[in-house]
Amino acid sequence: MRKRYVAQISKWRHPLVGCLFAVPFVALAISLVLMEEMLIHDFYFPGAPLFLAIVLVALMWGTGPALFAVLLSTLALDYFYIPPFGQFDVANWPGTLQILPFFLAGIVIAVISGQREAARRRALFAEQELQAHANELEQTNRELKEANQLKDQFLSMASHELKTPITTIRGQAQVMLRRLSKQKELPGELSDVRTALEKIDEQTYRLTALVNDLLDLSSMRSGKIELRLSRCDVRDICSSIVENQRLLSERTIELEMPPAPVILNADGDRMEQVVTNLVSNAIKYSPNEAPVQVSVRQRDKVVVLEVHDSGQGIPKDQQKRIFETFYRSPDAETARKSGWGLGLAICKDIVERHGGCIWCESRVGEGSTFFVELPVKER
Ligand code: ADP
Repeated sequence: MRKRYVAQISKWRHPLVGCLFAVPFVALAISLVLMEEMLIHDFYFPGAPLFLAIVLVALMWGTGPALFAVLLSTLALDYFYIPPFGQFDVANWPGTLQILPFFLAGIVIAVISGQREAARRRALFAEQELQAHANELEQTNRELKEANQLKDQFLSMASHELKTPITTIRGQAQVMLRRLSKQKELPGELSDVRTALEKIDEQTYRLTALVNDLLDLSSMRSGKIELRLSRCDVRDICSSIVENQRLLSERTIELEMPPAPVILNADGDRMEQVVTNLVSNAIKYSPNEAPVQVSVRQRDKVVVLEVHDSGQGIPKDQQKRIFETFYRSPDAETARKSGWGLGLAICKDIVERHGGCIWCESRVGEGSTFFVELPVKER
């Protein structure tokens, strides 16, 4: 910054120019002293106009030229004002004694004024630099926001475009599979066709889930989806989802809920989406034999949902990142668990739009617990 500051100083403020200008300034001041002496009978302050010249030089060119002005002023004062007039007397004892206070005071004034002015200008320059950086940051921020909006728009358009052909491919594959299933015995080549069709069905199912997630995310982020709030019992949502997941995965899922209804003013379908995501993740990321625990608790004015698994856990540095769009932990990638890293980002959006929060507590090797806290309030 200092280099940039020096580079932007205009040429006429160069110290050498200052030394050149110090000569006329001092000359002017000494002329003023002599004039005043002629006009005023008992004139006692010959140093004042010279101090003025020193201060001006210090303010405009800094300490170096100001010190030079002090030297010039001392000599001029000695030559014109201290008897015997018209000769330099500073080396002789009485002359030195007379001129010394002026000389010392001049140095102090030159140093203080020069440094203060330099500090003021440097601070001003730093402020301008800061402002320029702030403007740059603001501009970059605006560009990033625009790029992000474009990305969302692109994702939303691409997902819309993909939805119809994927549904058609899947529909056709399912029709063919149904037809084949009606045949009692399939010749060898048709059995290969059935395997291929089943793979198409499976993969297009995955693609449909991804497209739906992408559409969900982009509509929610752009605020296109309104929450359809209604009174719903969190216990009903949890028990139906737990039941479904038990059937689908054939895993043990323990459910703990209070006996009384837990009523929330929420979008029931979206809440189901959150619970489904959390429970299916707990199943996906923990060993088959380990049970998953789901619990619902009501505390003061909040409802807390907990989904616990005894999987391999999530390292601390990843616990916040897993809620980012498309983030998948390296373990999930290497373990070849299918997924796109969208489920938790969608859960976060839904929960936050309900005024709640979602977080994860986990220890590597011991499992993970996902918490969802929702306020119980009339909306
Ligand atoms: P996906 O499961 O499709 O990858 P999610 O958004 O649901 O996407 O999850 C993001 C990442 O968070 C996962 O890839 C996984 O690494 C991690 N994760 C989520 N739930 C769990 C869990 N219960 N145990 C361990 N890791 C998890």
